[in-house]
Amino acid sequence: MIRFESLLEKVRSYSPEADVELLRKAYVFSALEHKGQVRHSGEPYLIHPLEVADILADMKMDVVAVAAGLLHDVVEDTLTTPDRIAELFGPEIAHVVEGVTKIGAIPFSSSEERQAENFRKMLLAMVDDIRVILVKLADRLHNMRTLHYLPEERRTKIAQETLDIYAPIANRLGMSKVKNELEELAFRYLEPKAYEVLRSKVEGKRRQAERIIEELTRTIRAKLEEAQVPIVHLDGRIKRLYSIHHKLKRQKIDLERVYDFVALRVITDSVKDCYAVLGIIHQTWSPVPGRIKDFIAMPRPNGYQSLHTSVVSEHGFPFEVQIRTEEMHRHAEEGIAAHWKYKEGRVGDQRDERYFQWMRQLLEVQQEVRDPQEFLQSLKIDLYPEEVYIFTPKGEVKSLPRGATAVDFAYSIHTDVGNQCVGARINGRMVPLRTRLQNGDIVEIVTQSGHKPSRDWLNFVATSRARSKIKHVIQSEERARSIELGRRLFEKEARRFGLNPKTVLEGDELAKFASEYGAQKVDDLLTHIGYGKLSARTVLQKAVPPSQLKEQPPESAVVSAVKRVLRSGAAEDRIKVRGTDEVLVFRAKCCNPIRGERIVGYITRGKGVSVHAAACPNVLVFDPDRRIDVEWDSAVDQAPYTVRLTMEVEDRKGMLAEISARVSDINTNITNMEARTGGDHHARIDMTVEIKDVKHLEKVIKSIKGVEGVLEVERAARA
Ligand code: MN
Repeated sequence: MIRFESLLEKVRSYSPEADVELLRKAYVFSALEHKGQVRHSGEPYLIHPLEVADILADMKMDVVAVAAGLLHDVVEDTLTTPDRIAELFGPEIAHVVEGVTKIGAIPFSSSEERQAENFRKMLLAMVDDIRVILVKLADRLHNMRTLHYLPEERRTKIAQETLDIYAPIANRLGMSKVKNELEELAFRYLEPKAYEVLRSKVEGKRRQAERIIEELTRTIRAKLEEAQVPIVHLDGRIKRLYSIHHKLKRQKIDLERVYDFVALRVITDSVKDCYAVLGIIHQTWSPVPGRIKDFIAMPRPNGYQSLHTSVVSEHGFPFEVQIRTEEMHRHAEEGIAAHWKYKEGRVGDQRDERYFQWMRQLLEVQQEVRDPQEFLQSLKIDLYPEEVYIFTPKGEVKSLPRGATAVDFAYSIHTDVGNQCVGARINGRMVPLRTRLQNGDIVEIVTQSGHKPSRDWLNFVATSRARSKIKHVIQSEERARSIELGRRLFEKEARRFGLNPKTVLEGDELAKFASEYGAQKVDDLLTHIGYGKLSARTVLQKAVPPSQLKEQPPESAVVSAVKRVLRSGAAEDRIKVRGTDEVLVFRAKCCNPIRGERIVGYITRGKGVSVHAAACPNVLVFDPDRRIDVEWDSAVDQAPYTVRLTMEVEDRKGMLAEISARVSDINTNITNMEARTGGDHHARIDMTVEIKDVKHLEKVIKSIKGVEGVLEVERAARA
């Protein structure tokens, strides 16, 4: 209880108006909920939330944040629900507690640097109230301070996570005080030996270092007085062990010189004085070239401002000096927290304005914010509005643009995974491939070997990588198809003139024409034929001297009918596309339209125009832009179509004979006929007939229906 009273006192000291009763209520609730729980240290659990709240009070946070600090573990560690917190403490506190619980639950396992960066971003992207991060950092700080009570394995894991995730986040938010302490503690637990060796070395030289610091500060003070440059504060310090360790490792040196670990800091009243101090220091000692850094003119991305220089002492050793204003110093220490505290009266002097400007940039907030006050009150932040962070089933984090779908994710893993993906599972549930991904989703892609991407995917993918991979596959498929079609058309044309297509295709003349035409290979010419850009006849005329182009007598009707059956899917020339005769047309196999029937053309990709019966169900799903008017060509011969009829009849003797007689009576050629008997005295007859046009077909069907015992006659879907 004593500790809680001192917390209240602390809050009251920077915020006399604070709702102390709310804090008291939060404290009592937390005490009840955590009752009986103990920490590894053996202390009552309640100590932890109390310390976390105390750290937040040190940061001069508002009541919401401090209360959330007291309550931050109740949802995770007790039976309390976020709804219950909202009921008792209001939606704001509940929201912060829930946010802290949520990011605490994200499993982080990899120590790979790129992964850590994505993970940090994901964590920040999941937060919509900056206080969630501040409470989480306070929580982590206290856990790190009491880490020695935990078993070694957990110690290492938590320390690594702190170094990879939380210290960089504190740094990103400009909170160097928190960052430094986290790093220092993490170093101690991750490399206990190196830490101990370094600590004792520095300890051994401490007195010497303190003497040097004293000497240096005395010199500077005298010089500044002489030049009449006022300063607010001047101190020297021994650098943090982690930063010394880092420096030694980077420069591959051993700690020999005391100067390596001392640094001076000068705090001034104004920016002008910062530069004046820098000038005087450079007059006193020689600067080390390349070590002067002006972060005042060019602040670091996290808003840090200061002048840095290294100078060489009269004993020949370099040491570092940092110079900045009080305001800059406060920002350097507290970062975003410096502006999250209670304000007396109005916020928004010029410095604040500038600060919010950088914070807006820092946080990459795209939304329009009219004034800082409003920004503070809205509490809504979107740190990475353009990205989402997704888990693979193995716990790897991938970053994708906002709006990315399961297909984008599949392509981000591997081109083959993208090309062959047939389904996706998000957080264990099967979802459509077009589903947009959300931060923190665990996405698993289902693939099927040999599966090809669909053109439809182009309508929803968000990444250019996925888009270009899909296009690539579709284009090469189309190309292969049009080469094949072009080849067939060319061969047909060549045979019409009694030429051997292979000889023509491999001849020099054709190659010559190809290069004149701007096609690199004969295949490219065939593609053009297949796409309908060039006619087979034109190409043939270029490749063969006119004397050899003698058209062969037309085949007999029988031969051509047989060939047509063999030639399934090939282009037909009895249909015309209105307005042009350059385009290739063929009858669609799904509905096998015949002369006289109403027809609709559809421009396929790379296969010419497919012609469907207007009644074909496939017509309904056509892209309207690709529909084209077609008509039957009246000028050509009346070669018949093959049409298959199926009928349901009573199973009686002489039925087959009677039906074939009726059909023959109306001058119709039957090319095939089969009967199967089913149960219940019915039989099924399949008959293939040659039909001139749709009127002829109607006549045939009518005559069959006239036979006694025929129950039903249908035109089969496929010929
Ligand atoms: Mn905690």
